[in-house]
Amino acid sequence: MAETVRPIHPLTTDEAWAFTASRASATTFFFDFDGVLSPVTDDPDASQPVPEVLGVLERLADSVARVAIVSARPVSFLRSRFADLDHVDLHGLYGLEVWHDGQVVTEPAALDFVPAMTELADQARTELPAEILVEYKRLSVALHYRTAPDQGRTVERWAHEQAERLGLRIQHGRMVVELKPPVDQDKGMVITEGVRNAGCAWYFGDDMSDIKAFDALRAREAVDPAFFGMAVAVANPETGAEVSSAADLTLESPDAVAAFLTEGLRRF
Ligand SMILES: [Mg+2]
Repeated sequence: MAETVRPIHPLTTDEAWAFTASRASATTFFFDFDGVLSPVTDDPDASQPVPEVLGVLERLADSVARVAIVSARPVSFLRSRFADLDHVDLHGLYGLEVWHDGQVVTEPAALDFVPAMTELADQARTELPAEILVEYKRLSVALHYRTAPDQGRTVERWAHEQAERLGLRIQHGRMVVELKPPVDQDKGMVITEGVRNAGCAWYFGDDMSDIKAFDALRAREAVDPAFFGMAVAVANPETGAEVSSAADLTLESPDAVAAFLTEGLRRF
């Protein structure tokens, strides 16, 4: 084990990179997708990672123990954007799906909800205003009101009624409300599991669901004084200061994330 003393928060990015490079073989980098590796778009199907991201993730995966993307998107979507990255792990639907050894592994407790979700997506398309974009994700349904922000309350109310009727859970995000199976799985749990044997981990997120991942890094630090966790927020005007204030560092955009990693990789 390296002799480097774990830095304490707050710290400079210089110190964070130096420590990370000293523990590279015990380090995992986790990334959210939307708003972190890719700019948020009105149509969620249209979003693409910023151009530098693919190359930088590949180099990062060569330099540290593990790189993983942890997203609200299904694995099928993440695969469509990162198919060429053989060494990057994909956790979809907040961890209900994992891409592992060439196939999607689904949390068994969530599979029972596939028929209800299919039906719910159809119902949402019929009952909600036409501007609301219904994203069917097999194990969940996301209702996007980015192009009709004034419909936010209507969408929220409808989602809560359905959640109560079907016994589902609600996840709030940026101009989106999502209905999920009542299965205990969130980004915090993915990170808690993922850092069990790590000496250092970074998490990059931009939304409310990412705060649980930040908390998981803090919790690991609290029980393991040798572990170092770095929480990085990516700024956006919609969640305001809440995600930033929970992070060690804030970057201004997905392009800035790619540039930041490129710079940091010079240390390895
Ligand atoms: Mg996001």
